Amino acid sequence: MPVDKVCKTIHQYSKEPLKEADMQKLLEIAEDYKKVKNYVYSRFGGLHSLSKLYPGYTVQNEMTASGYRETLGMPSVYFYLAIFDALGDIKLQWTRTKTKISKLMNQNESFTEEDKHYLRFLIKVSNGFEEVLNQKPVELPRTLQKQYSELAAKVDAERLNRYLCRQVRKHHVKLHTDRADGFAIAERAYRYADHGIYISIKEKRKRIFVPLTDHNQYKSQLYIKLYPKESCIKIKVPVNVAVREHEDYRNQVGVSLGLYTMLTTDQGHHYGDELGRYQIEYADWIREQTRIYNRNKNENCGRKKYYGKKKRLEEQLHSYINQELNRFLRDEKPRTVYIVKLPKPQAGGVNKRINHSMTQWQRGYIRKRLTQKCKEHGVELVQVLGKEISNECSGCGAAGKKRDGYFICSNCGCRIEEKTNTARNVLMRGASGKTVN
Ligand SMILES: [Zn+2]
Repeated sequence: MPVDKVCKTIHQYSKEPLKEADMQKLLEIAEDYKKVKNYVYSRFGGLHSLSKLYPGYTVQNEMTASGYRETLGMPSVYFYLAIFDALGDIKLQWTRTKTKISKLMNQNESFTEEDKHYLRFLIKVSNGFEEVLNQKPVELPRTLQKQYSELAAKVDAERLNRYLCRQVRKHHVKLHTDRADGFAIAERAYRYADHGIYISIKEKRKRIFVPLTDHNQYKSQLYIKLYPKESCIKIKVPVNVAVREHEDYRNQVGVSLGLYTMLTTDQGHHYGDELGRYQIEYADWIREQTRIYNRNKNENCGRKKYYGKKKRLEEQLHSYINQELNRFLRDEKPRTVYIVKLPKPQAGGVNKRINHSMTQWQRGYIRKRLTQKCKEHGVELVQVLGKEISNECSGCGAAGKKRDGYFICSNCGCRIEEKTNTARNVLMRGASGKTVN
């Protein structure tokens, strides 16, 4: 039986602060990389270029002929990666536009079933979609053409084509980026050696050396992310790892995510009890630093130390989150984990000391990591509908009250930890099929 693979990103970090001059060289590449991406976005992001996107050779050839690489003086090894990077974004953008239009069309009550069939067909068949958008007659391979003619005969095709064009004009956003903080790098533009990495720069045959915190070496396309404020870099390495199937992972576990305790299970087990403390410490430190900074603005010359420490605190927090998620999987041995669909935005925030946007961001991080770890361990992660889930009694289903972290039901008289009550409801909804997708 073939082993399932799952894509995972490994990170590598620079060991010591980069020299200012070296960081400048890397920033130059990132700046060019951004320019090329924007050039590709504006030239190939529109309706008329749809037919050039697959398989992409046309774009590559036209970009070579444009002379833009020479204008920038950019090494070809970076130039073409920037093009493919931008192309990927454009394709993704088209997928989004098509999804959006499909949704609107399905909700539109003035359309008959035949109308919808016709539009669905056009959205699905790339050539047809392009031709309609560019006001050309639809010409498809024989079997598809026959199918198309049959569908078109039953509807007012003109009117529907106009609808499609109008929706695309309205919803297809042209891409642009202002970020110049990183670039993809192919194997022939870097070399691992001497406990670090040598990276090609714009000057011919010159490389800069960055010592790394680990001695691992990879042979794939990497992404170099720059942190000029902190004088450091992060390398993102995509690797395929085999899914680790665990014979003994058989449990069904409902979980509830929280602000103070990261994760509570339906059995009342806690993981990440220190999350709240970590977040408060972090927020307090930021506030204090901002205060000091504002007071000494005049004699302040750079905030390198501040950014360095901020980043270290974030890394500590993330490493704690990952450690606790690992412990959760190891101890609970789940076959399936049930989780509420979306974290409910908490009106006003439970505690003002925790910066709201930061909490949202950490929450996104926790969900992302949980999703990835479940994939890596062959654990199924299922989302359940979350409406009123924390207000229902998990014992009898009646609405209850929440006080001091407890859920109290006046109907059946039970008193149970609030998060455990929610996690139980999550499990019950999951087991009874009240799930999303
Ligand atoms: Zn009850």
